[in-house]
Amino acid sequence: NEAAWHLLQQGRRAVDAVEAGVRVPEADPENQTVGYGGRPDRDGRVTLDACIMDEHYRCGSVAGMEHIMHAVSVARQVMEKTPHVMLVGDGALQFALANGFTKQRLLTAKSEAEWKEWLKTSEYKPQRNVENMLPGGKHNHDTIGMLAMDAAGNMGGACTTSGMAYKLHGRVGDSPIIGAGLYVDNEVGAATSSGVGEEVIRIVGSHLVVELMRMGLKPEEACRKAVERIAR
Ligand code: ASP
Repeated sequence: NEAAWHLLQQGRRAVDAVEAGVRVPEADPENQTVGYGGRPDRDGRVTLDACIMDEHYRCGSVAGMEHIMHAVSVARQVMEKTPHVMLVGDGALQFALANGFTKQRLLTAKSEAEWKEWLKTSEYKPQRNVENMLPGGKHNHDTIGMLAMDAAGNMGGACTTSGMAYKLHGRVGDSPIIGAGLYVDNEVGAATSSGVGEEVIRIVGSHLVVELMRMGLKPEEACRKAVERIAR
């Protein structure tokens, strides 16, 4: 929030602020659910999902991308430099490398050691945050999503994650999917999500929340309706 607020105070765009904001946990090796240091999939590969959206319905996204720390910034380049919205896997990596991003090892010693421990049982049970699956009561997921409004009254949003720990290789969650993990509609509002991505994709959660707000619901009421729909 500090990194994002700093830019907003300088009069910068919301989209700049949210990108700067989520880059902080992306670079933090102690944060094991986002970017560098994120927990790997069950094959030991750190694969990142991220997206970004601005006030003009412009958006960019990468899914299942390896070896690049700042997935959100690659998503932004997809938005700004290509006619596409989403790049996945090797294609996303190829695009990142062609646009000046540096390849690096994202699996830290800590996340690798925990993964090797997990391999002993290889039990994969994605559950709600209150019912942790990892030894020691640790969460197996916790995406960062950030929304902002700038001095001009425009909105922007970003979402980035390493996804569910020990997921199947190739699994993509809600986080890089526009409408599921993030949606920004400058006329109405914005939403982003964290939690079990499969559940959010099923109801296209962030878009649903924005549409409910368009119909007059307050943000909290809109979120409650979306969660109730998942529960039903
Ligand atoms: N939503 C993310 C996913 O399913 C996980 C999370 O929120 O932590 O990949």
